[in-house]
Amino acid sequence: MTHAGAGRRLRRAVILDRDGVINDNRTHIHVNSVQDFVLFPEAPKAIRLLNEAGFLVFVATNQGGVGLGHLTPEVLDEIHRHMLDQLREAGAVIDDIAVCPHAPRAGCRCRKPKPGMLFDLAARHGFDLESSYMVGDRDTDIAAGQAAGARTVWILRDDADLDPVHSGHRHRPVSGQLPLPLPEPDFRATDLYSAVRWILRDADIEG
Ligand SMILES: [Mg+2]
Ligand SMILES: [Zn+2]
Repeated sequence: MTHAGAGRRLRRAVILDRDGVINDNRTHIHVNSVQDFVLFPEAPKAIRLLNEAGFLVFVATNQGGVGLGHLTPEVLDEIHRHMLDQLREAGAVIDDIAVCPHAPRAGCRCRKPKPGMLFDLAARHGFDLESSYMVGDRDTDIAAGQAAGARTVWILRDDADLDPVHSGHRHRPVSGQLPLPLPEPDFRATDLYSAVRWILRDADIEG
């Protein structure tokens, strides 16, 4: 038996939700083509800071549109290649992408708020979930992060409406799928850059 304890620390990770965190989907809430994918301007430098600090960086994204037939796995791959290319050109690296392609009511183990994608990433890449972070823009991201034992950051943009019942915005941070009260994140940020600055402070890395 070997133990991963003394001397050999597991790496830490930051797991990012995609829509509303890396890309701005307030116009095209369902990103079903490369043309719908609009990178937030602050995303590359935020991810670059995480790379430089030694974090593994992952994406965990619900893509129920695949299961519903709104986009094919091939188009989703194309969107993700486009995302990785845009980030790489700006010096930012995503180490892996986890996707739940199942329809919302399919009852799978991976669709957030379930933590399946986070456990799968940790098993595949060997990082410590308890010293890792989940960043998302919806209550379901925070619940998934907490269920996996990670610390959580909720990105609430200035125009986000937290009314859990009657949200007039197309960009809704509250899913309506979770029982109230809403999950309480470790930190609230207004965008990915401010989220990362907090993570670097929280992890005792100079931000
Ligand atoms: Mg989102
Ligand atoms: Zn799934």
